[in-house]
Amino acid sequence: MRGEARKAKIAPMRNFHTGFTCTACGAHYPTNQIEYTCPKCGGNMDAAYDYATIRKEVDPRQMVSRADRSAWHYAELLPRTAPSGERHTPLAEFGASPLYRAGNLERELGIRKIWLKDDGQLPSNSFKDRASSMVVAQAIATKRETICVASTGNAASALALMCAGRSDVRAVIFVPQGTPEGKLVQSLIYGAQVYLVKGSYNDAVEMASAACQRFGWYNRSTGTNPYTREGKKTAAFEICEQLALADGAAAAFRAPDVMIVPVGDGNIISGIHKGYKDLFALGWIDRVPKFIGATAAKAPSLFRAWQSGGEQCQLAPSTTLASGISVDIPADGAMALRAVRDTGGALIECEDEELLDGIAALARKAAVFAEPSAAASYVALVKAKAQGLIGSTDEVVLQLTGNGLKDAKSALRAAGAPRVVSSLDEV
Ligand SMILES: *Cc1c(COP(=O)(O)O)cnc(C)c1O
Ligand SMILES: [Zn+2]
Repeated sequence: MRGEARKAKIAPMRNFHTGFTCTACGAHYPTNQIEYTCPKCGGNMDAAYDYATIRKEVDPRQMVSRADRSAWHYAELLPRTAPSGERHTPLAEFGASPLYRAGNLERELGIRKIWLKDDGQLPSNSFKDRASSMVVAQAIATKRETICVASTGNAASALALMCAGRSDVRAVIFVPQGTPEGKLVQSLIYGAQVYLVKGSYNDAVEMASAACQRFGWYNRSTGTNPYTREGKKTAAFEICEQLALADGAAAAFRAPDVMIVPVGDGNIISGIHKGYKDLFALGWIDRVPKFIGATAAKAPSLFRAWQSGGEQCQLAPSTTLASGISVDIPADGAMALRAVRDTGGALIECEDEELLDGIAALARKAAVFAEPSAAASYVALVKAKAQGLIGSTDEVVLQLTGNGLKDAKSALRAAGAPRVVSSLDEV
């Protein structure tokens, strides 16, 4: 009896993940033939789904009304990461991040609707939980014990958290020296093996990749591992579900007009774009929003490629203080450019000083404390409105990617110093 009840609760969801398509050469492979990049050309891989059958057989209203509020309530749009019927523990641990309406910003900028998607409230306080949980689910399903990542800090924190307290997986982390303390301490306290690499994030990427080859570890690094994008796309599903719910409309999902996303490697913007494209392919939303990517002016590689009109990014050493978007050459650059170009959007560069001011503005006007990389969404919003890229009748969603306490040192520069007093006479 009891066993039956338990079984009923975890009834297997149908799976429609048909394989992987190379984003560079278009070659298609069955799911079990792809671990990382394209065997033919080395391009990043993109998970493919049988949209025609999903459209016929899955009811979106039923999907969004499931009791399971974790990302697995979108299971039919996610990869086959576990034997059917088995609980996908890592992703099952958290539900949607909040979507707030930002009335003060709407009035100040003269924009109809502005929403803040606050991933600073995910379990390790950054967007990277979406990717790390999906990769850990895949590692468990394929019995890979050691998961390795190169990270600017947040992907590492997320991986460390997802592996904490488990005996079947462990995390090995390579982060560059200079990684903000708040991010570093998370990886350490959750018990991951942490290596501080003398050099940049890109040096850490190379070291992690070499370690995976030498020791046979599973590589979670962004761009290389095709499962990160699949985890990241759940942000788009949540936003569309939350917007439909806010309307009280009959539809299960509704898309905004404009989506603003901070961009480093370009995997978050590519993932969120994928999520909207999935729902659009199914006819579950009526548009894919215009994508505005916010880059750091001091990490110029992607912006230069965007300006030149090409897809190839060249190495350009980053010196930005915004650790989350500090890359010398983006690992998913071509897909980031497609998100922007295919939707009639743009990339907008943010100066470090603007990011610091943005942290304070966002905290004081909208009550959300963002790390510098997350504040890039806000800086890009203000600039995009001034440049006419956003109209007054638009509905805009800002993806906020990390909590401000991750990098308290930067935030303190924006916050100003407190007054020191010894008695109330000085107050
Ligand atoms: C990783 C990260 C980003 C950028 O994501 P990419 O996939 O590298 O473009 C933005 N903000 C924060 C806080 C991050 O940790
Ligand atoms: Zn290829």
